[in-house]
Amino acid sequence: MGKVIVQKYGGTSVGSIDKIKRVAERIAEIRKSGNDVVVVVSAMAGQTDQLLQLAWQISDHPKQREVDLLLSSGERISCALLTIALNAVGCEAVSMTGRQIGLQTDNTHTRARIKQIDGGLCKRYLEEQKVVVVAGFQGINEHGDVTTLGRGGSDTSAVALAVALNAEQCEICTDVDGVFTADPRIVPDARKLSTISYDEMLEMSGLGAKVLQLRCVEFAKKFNMPLIVRSSYNNKPGTLISREDPKMEQPVVSGIMYDKNQAKITVKGVPDQPGIAAKLFNALASASVSVDMIIQNISEEGHTDISFTVTTEHLKDAMAEVNKVNEEIKAEKITQDAGISKISIVGAGMRSHSGIAARMFETLSRENINILMISTSEIKVSCIIDEKYTEQATRTLHEAFDMKTAPVANAEGNPQDSKIKV
Ligand code: ASP
Ligand code: MG
Repeated sequence: MGKVIVQKYGGTSVGSIDKIKRVAERIAEIRKSGNDVVVVVSAMAGQTDQLLQLAWQISDHPKQREVDLLLSSGERISCALLTIALNAVGCEAVSMTGRQIGLQTDNTHTRARIKQIDGGLCKRYLEEQKVVVVAGFQGINEHGDVTTLGRGGSDTSAVALAVALNAEQCEICTDVDGVFTADPRIVPDARKLSTISYDEMLEMSGLGAKVLQLRCVEFAKKFNMPLIVRSSYNNKPGTLISREDPKMEQPVVSGIMYDKNQAKITVKGVPDQPGIAAKLFNALASASVSVDMIIQNISEEGHTDISFTVTTEHLKDAMAEVNKVNEEIKAEKITQDAGISKISIVGAGMRSHSGIAARMFETLSRENINILMISTSEIKVSCIIDEKYTEQATRTLHEAFDMKTAPVANAEGNPQDSKIKV
């Protein structure tokens, strides 16, 4: 077998028959240059949501096993159509489902984890010089039932397959040119990053950057599989996501992310005694509400306030749980606020630079933007602010950290990205 290239095309890239034909021509070109090509596809844009709607028209609580079978059909359609399109342009291709590539998962329907892929049949077709087109997002569990890998899961199928086939890299082809320093719709001079580390991308995906599924990046990091995010429509080099390397761009802050999908709950005047937080957060956990930031105020006269954030989708369930627990903990007041957003800066350079958080706070204060909550990790600082300031905060932070220009030579004098390249 020659060099194997795994490419994944997202829903927008196969969103219509015209687009499928365009993608087929592009793949045929790559095949002509002598590489073994495996293509993983998402469902046509909007299809997964439409299928879910159909199920919900029948029942509020459809069985997840059946939902998985339903949703997996979206990827089968785009997979078959793309294969037909490839054959039509004279490029020999064969379609395969998750079951056929031997993608085994655990038993968790609608968000299954991959256990293994054998890839045997896939290799056989590659040896026959065929392009292999794979339906992403799906596998089978130990009972032989169809499972799906969670929303955006085709990214993870692609990386797992790249690992199984010992591919040189996994290309995620999408409708943007790569990973940007900030959302270009908000920051017109946002810059495409040429390289970024797995850790930075993990933070960004966790913070709601839609470009890659979080699990895909975890998987790539675990197996050290280089990931490239690039456009489905042009040959620009895209963004390489790989291990941290001194030759990489080394800005202090690589990206700014925002997430408007956040809500805050405050439980005021709870008794300041052991077990209160445990009761509250245990209840939320058992209702599968994931809590992001938490702050507890210094207590006054034996009482304290606890605030925490959840995603807006979880707000209703979270409030119901808090109200239930409150029969026991007897808080003075419970308030909710869905009008907040989370602004975060991410950069591996923070490990070796001090004062980054301070610069972020100062920048926001200069704009008169009040910070409601703060959380940090080794390579990230997040602030909760009033949602109406989201765009303003993103733009001024991009400016304050001078992100529109690529950094120049680092201390070791390693070659750096120049402005010409981006
Ligand atoms: N079609 C699935 C979704 O919409 C999986 C994917 O696109 O990766 O989430
Ligand atoms: Mg996606």
